Amino acid sequence: MQIEKIREEFPILAREVHGKPLIYLDNTATSQTPREVVDEIVRLYEHTKANVHRGVHRLSQEATDLQETTRRRVQSFINASSPEEIIFTRGTTEAINLVAASFGSRFRDGDEIILTIMEHHANIVPWQLLRRHADIKIRVVEINENGEINIEQYRSLFNDRTVMAAFCHVSNVLGTINPVKEMTAIAHSHGVPVLVDGAQASPHIKIDVQDIDCDFYAFSSHKMYGPTGVGVLYGRRRLLEEMPPYQGGGEMIKHVTFEHTTFADLPFKFEAGTPDFIDIAAFSKALDFIERVGLEAIEAHEEELLQYITPKLEAIEGLRIYGTAHDKSAVISFNVGDIHNYDLGMLLDQLGVAVRTGHHCAQPLMAHFGVPGMVRASFAVYNTREEADALISAINRSLQILR
Ligand code: PMP
Repeated sequence: MQIEKIREEFPILAREVHGKPLIYLDNTATSQTPREVVDEIVRLYEHTKANVHRGVHRLSQEATDLQETTRRRVQSFINASSPEEIIFTRGTTEAINLVAASFGSRFRDGDEIILTIMEHHANIVPWQLLRRHADIKIRVVEINENGEINIEQYRSLFNDRTVMAAFCHVSNVLGTINPVKEMTAIAHSHGVPVLVDGAQASPHIKIDVQDIDCDFYAFSSHKMYGPTGVGVLYGRRRLLEEMPPYQGGGEMIKHVTFEHTTFADLPFKFEAGTPDFIDIAAFSKALDFIERVGLEAIEAHEEELLQYITPKLEAIEGLRIYGTAHDKSAVISFNVGDIHNYDLGMLLDQLGVAVRTGHHCAQPLMAHFGVPGMVRASFAVYNTREEADALISAINRSLQILR
């Protein structure tokens, strides 16, 4: 892979921060966007801005075609069996909220949902909100010291009150790649549907929803080199058809009177209101980028960076890495001694290195490790060994100051 050529496609990588070259290692939060995606957004605003699915006029038809082409593009990207199973949302968070609110409307007092200790708040809070109508119990899957799921304990959590299992494909803190296919098979053997939070998997790993056999899969464009404001919910058609709408409004209806409304067919039943059609259409270009570079090449490059930097980090006195799973993506969360993650993050920023600090929207996991937060460096296709080295020397310099 020609990293320099790839880097040239990302204008933001050429900028400076505090007079230093930007070293962007916050890709788990959001990744940067190549020029072809940005150009497409500008082109669409200048050339094809018209509301989708509403007009007979030419522009509206063009905009609709672009959106529906992207839907088919996403379908093939994750190997869904039909485009009707692809629902556009604002992001992973909205996708999970959709499932919790709509599918979850059937849950009753005493029903149980299985989550893991490593979930992002986006895969915890929407399920808790169901408690407004039913007394839902949340059962939690534990992890071992490497940050890997305890599969036997997971298996033991199922009982006749279990109504859902929801877990991340890849942890945004530990980097752990969960055995989602096996976990789904276990849930299905108990007749329990599965939602996979794929926010951290879709930028790095080939997703095949039919192979995983999950019932729902959620992810966000902005973590996949794409525009903000776009997410995807994949849902198994049979379940989506049974589910009530999530929001009401335009686009999601067949016929409305003051007495009664009939709803549109899939996927539009779940897409009330004007979608972010420009960003949806431009998301196609991000998928083009990923497919042109190749997910296998992206994964191999990031794995190489992970293998390169991990021992160098471990060699820093007092540094502890959280998450050393055998199957791990290039996300490294750590603390150094009793130095506050925020202090270290601030100094790294002064040196041009963008890392994330804090609880990473995973407070139960922070509680598990007994820390208020962690520093997290996460890598993408455009990161280099030189940047990994720069992170190490920036940490060393910061520690000199802090100690
Ligand atoms: N789940 C995981 C595992 C994540 O890492 C994130 C983003 N940090 C989300 C869900 C939420 O994604 P979004 O903010 O794009 O909705």
